[in-house]
Formats: sequence, structure tokens, C-alpha cells
Amino acid sequence: MPHRLILAAIRLLYAPLMLAGFNGAALWLVEQNASHAWLLVLLLAALLLSFWAERLLPYEAAWNRGASACDLTHAFVNETATVLGVLAIPLLSGYSPWHSYWPQHWPLVWQWLLAVLVADCGITLMHWLSHRSALLWRFHAVHHAGTRFYGLNGLVKHPLHQLIETMAGTGPLLLIGLPQSVAGLLGFSVALQLLLQHSNVDMRLGPLRYLLALAPLHRFHHQRWAGIGDVNFGLFTTLWDRLLGTAVYDPQRRFVPGEFGIGTQPDYPRNYRAQLLAPFRPAASVSGAAVTAPGSPSRQTDA
Ligand SMILES: [Zn+2]
Repeated sequence: MPHRLILAAIRLLYAPLMLAGFNGAALWLVEQNASHAWLLVLLLAALLLSFWAERLLPYEAAWNRGASACDLTHAFVNETATVLGVLAIPLLSGYSPWHSYWPQHWPLVWQWLLAVLVADCGITLMHWLSHRSALLWRFHAVHHAGTRFYGLNGLVKHPLHQLIETMAGTGPLLLIGLPQSVAGLLGFSVALQLLLQHSNVDMRLGPLRYLLALAPLHRFHHQRWAGIGDVNFGLFTTLWDRLLGTAVYDPQRRFVPGEFGIGTQPDYPRNYRAQLLAPFRPAASVSGAAVTAPGSPSRQTDA
């Protein structure tokens, strides 16, 4: 059993070190003109490290049941799609009349930050919309079907919904000429953020919780009850939730097994093929359980 001081240090440092360490390493690799394949190696390392930390310091030990084949398939398909999207960028450039507006002369770290902030806006707003549109919810529901909270959940998405979110986040960037190098970095940072946002590590954020949309905030989003879970939509930051009035946090709130998933669809399909087809099933069987209904329970607001 590791020393209590070591566990206390991991609790406090896990999120900032993972974010700074892995994003920093990715920036360094791209700065060195290393192959983008190294970013995949880095992502795999982040995934393995997060699994190790979940074992060492779980928020809820019962959720450490290993990665399911269905979730691994989602992660593989969705990350492959991201790689193909990044590889396709040179083919797309030239189609936009504004493709030369990207500030290529900025230091790479500022270009990365610009890409992250613009993508955060588009992806967060599309996520928010996906809880309000019955059609979008059908595709987003796949992401909410999981009844436990662990890192790989972040990469569980219907590929069409990932495409919709990605276009909302990167469309404006691509129009003004997002270079392939920064797009690769952005794809890496999105995957890392999703991993940390759904991690089962008992992390503490301290003042970072005002800025970063990580697991302690995102757990509120995965509550299974309509209305209650329609909060904390942010991917990278809490900025858009504050503007939308959907930012929620209660430091005393402790989540236990049975609180996550889709309240009205406890029997949501558990295998990959069925989850791919679920959005196309008849409306009655996939109606948006988490779509906010008039008169849904009121929310706590962030202090
Ligand atoms: Zn959601």
C-alpha cells in the first residue's frame, strides 16, 4: 500500500501533471517535426498511466472493472477517424477563401492555445445542443449509456456524433487555415482531455476547478436523470457553462454506483454494433431521456 503522502500528492497533482506533462510532450514533439505517429504513442502512454492511477487511487473502486470490448472498439474507431481527419487536412486546404488567416508566425504554444479555445467553444455548444435536440440526442446517447465512470468512457461516442462535434469545433479553424501540425496537437489534446474528464481517479482540482472541465465537474453531467444531468457541458474549460448558466459544482456531492447512465433507458445496448444502430431505431425506443423537458427539476448553481 503506497504511503498516504504519496496518495495525497497524486490526488492533488494527477490532473495538472497529466495535462502539463502530456500536452507539453506533444508540443515538444511537434516542435521537433517528429512524426504524428508519436502522438499516438503518447496517447497510449496517457491511457495506460490513467488506468494505473485509477487502480492506485480510485474515486469508486467498483468502477475499476477493466476496459470493455465495446468501449475499446469505440476508442479505436474514433481515434482512427481523428487520425484520418488530420491526414486529410492538406487535401482540404485551398477550398476555403480564408485559408491564409491562420497566425502561422505565432509560437506553436499560442497557436495550440488558440485552437483549443476555438474548439472548446464549438464542441461545448454542440454538446449543449445535443441535450436539447431529440435528433442529436439519439447519437449523443451512446456516450451517456455507460453506467460507470472511467477514463475510456471519454472516447465512447457514436462516430457520427464525433464527426458532428469535431466539425463544430474545428470547422472555423479549418476555414482560416489550421495547419496539419496544430490539428494533430488539437486531436491529441481533445483525447487527453476526454480521458481526464471521465477518469475514475480521485483527483482534487483546487482552484483549477474554476477553469478546467475535468472529472470532478463532469461527473455531474453523467447523472442519469433528465434535467439534473444537463449541466457542465464544457470540454476544456468552464467558460461556456458559466455563460450558459449550466455550471454546477458541490464539493460535498459524492457519487455512487447506480447514478450514471440514461434513466429511461437502463437497457441501452451494450455491444458496439447495437450502439451504432441505436440512433436509427424507432423514435419511441430511443426518445431523448436526457433532453431537458419543461418543468424538469431545477439545478443547483455554481457558487
Ligand atoms: Zn452529454
